[in-house]
Amino acid sequence: MSAIRQDPTTREWVIVAPNRARRPHTARDEPAAAPAPDAACPFCPGNEASTPPGLLRLPGPGGSGWAVRVIPNKFGALTPSGEPVRRECGPLFREMDGVGHHEVIVETPRHDRTMSRMTDAEVELVLRAYQARYKALRADARVKYIIIFKNHGERAGTSLSHPHSQLVAAPVPPMQTRRKYEVATAHFDDTGRCLYCDLVEAEVEAKDRLVLETDRFVVFQPYASRVPFETWIAPKRHEPSFAQVSAEDLVGLARVLRRTLATLGAVLGAHDFNYVLHSAPVEDEGKRYYLWHIQILPRLQTIAGLELGSGIFITTMAPEESASLVRDALARGAGGR
Ligand SMILES: [Zn+2]
Ligand SMILES: [Zn+2]
Repeated sequence: MSAIRQDPTTREWVIVAPNRARRPHTARDEPAAAPAPDAACPFCPGNEASTPPGLLRLPGPGGSGWAVRVIPNKFGALTPSGEPVRRECGPLFREMDGVGHHEVIVETPRHDRTMSRMTDAEVELVLRAYQARYKALRADARVKYIIIFKNHGERAGTSLSHPHSQLVAAPVPPMQTRRKYEVATAHFDDTGRCLYCDLVEAEVEAKDRLVLETDRFVVFQPYASRVPFETWIAPKRHEPSFAQVSAEDLVGLARVLRRTLATLGAVLGAHDFNYVLHSAPVEDEGKRYYLWHIQILPRLQTIAGLELGSGIFITTMAPEESASLVRDALARGAGGR
């Protein structure tokens, strides 16, 4: 029998229906494939002139070339000029210019170097680039909310195979974030505690959805996971914004992120996924309600009418079962050490 679960952070409902399972890890079981290099790739070294001028460049080993580049998205959804002023366009209809920032983080000069194949030091450089851009953009008074995300593979919405992520800095916090924030604020009003810190503590205590724990981070598959193998990485100390992570913790986070992605790859085989780095809205970084976290969403199922129309997701595997598969793979050393 299926179960209906409430996500404590959104109050949304998720149907856990294990008997519908076409076991996702048998869907495609070839080893994680690397994309083939492409001479026409705009993100490969030598082709820099085909992209807009860079916003950040972290030098490669010995100061030669680059290790990570950040550039404006050539087809950006938002543009960094103008003011986000609201206009009334008749009753009920309001709009504003699409002011903001949409950037691309080219994670490596190597076309086939997916994050799970990188060294910890290489992943750390990517995280440092994320944080440097996050800090630069939150200084823009028009920016209210910054989200960093990665689309890996066609089903996850990427058009370019060269490893990259994106950053969007928006002049309004999205409704989904506002809603999560309201739920967290209500929890704080009721209990005087941070919902997300309570959630991390509860997942550590429950153990059966826990994937990995270090002195500073926890990796778990949430109680009301919306898709099979949804995985969160969260800090153990209260940090609402990714801007607040120390340089030392970025080193530890790089290792945890790389191992988590590599282990998911070992369990699921080649698969498409998204990850999203959530932070509190810029003006709420000092509050007690929220915790930055990385949400990894493997794209094993197609999101269809029910999910799009109602927000009710049907996941075909309970997170207790998937977390135990990932824990076993980690224990075998499948994701490296
Ligand atoms: Zn390339
Ligand atoms: Zn907290």
